[in-house]
Amino acid sequence: MTTSSEPGRPPASDEEVAGWVAGLGVPGLVDLHTHFLPERVLHKVWDYFDLAGAHYGIEWPIRYRFDEPTRLEVLGSLGVRAFAPLVYPHKPGMAEWLNRWALEFGLTTSGAVPTATMYPEPGAVDYVAAALDGGARCFKVHVQVGEFDPRDPLLDRAWGLLAEAGVPVVVHCGHGPLRGEFTGLEVFAEVLGRHPGLVAVLAHAGMPEYERALELVREYPGVYLDTTMIGVAFSERFAPLPGDWAARLVPVADRVVLGSDFPNIPYPYAEQLAAVAGWAASEERLGMPFLRAVLHDTPARLLGCR
Ligand SMILES: [Zn+2]
Repeated sequence: MTTSSEPGRPPASDEEVAGWVAGLGVPGLVDLHTHFLPERVLHKVWDYFDLAGAHYGIEWPIRYRFDEPTRLEVLGSLGVRAFAPLVYPHKPGMAEWLNRWALEFGLTTSGAVPTATMYPEPGAVDYVAAALDGGARCFKVHVQVGEFDPRDPLLDRAWGLLAEAGVPVVVHCGHGPLRGEFTGLEVFAEVLGRHPGLVAVLAHAGMPEYERALELVREYPGVYLDTTMIGVAFSERFAPLPGDWAARLVPVADRVVLGSDFPNIPYPYAEQLAAVAGWAASEERLGMPFLRAVLHDTPARLLGCR
């Protein structure tokens, strides 16, 4: 076990993660960006990733393709004490039943927090309000998969409700890994302009518009970045971080949260942690306080974990 003033060598494999986390002086990891779905839906998502070569031009073998109990066991063995199991619709008429499933899953699964999603459709405001009343502690909005405009008037009041509630919403609005008609941080910046109090977590740190994402964090007090899939070898091939990324994080060190995309990643979970640990180690103004904040304190605060 390492002392808690030095993070020690980052975990080289998942087997080393729990011991490494214990040495950081935090009660565990809090992962703000994971995916759980009804089994049947998840299998469809996995089928899609099986064809990633055609969709993305890159092979994407799902690393944690296990049944649900096994996936939960893996998270536990990695020292994840809390996680946001995110859901998102790709068509109308889907969000409301996904929300019912995600609330139930979050309320009944150890470590999971209740989450919800939304889509521009009549009734969106009502089911968002209902999800907030039902205890949703995190929302997910996926602009690329949903193929919708986040500025759609049908969502305007829903964004307002989220801002009022101060409940974080993980927004996949960047161009990576695929462009969509309404992806791009400039589009989402207009939503922030209308709802400046929104607690918005830019998924994948805005990949590949990392510069613009950092600007939005500086501009709006409620904007955060998640680490999901950034800085790992897989993504560095097509969306590399700026060379001075660690230094760029110094002024926003308390606005970065751990996200992983577990289980839908094509590499070990340990790699994501090693990437974050690498930023912490390479910049003396980051170091252990940054590592503890990203891996536990900041996401725990956003999700309301005690
Ligand atoms: Zn994701």
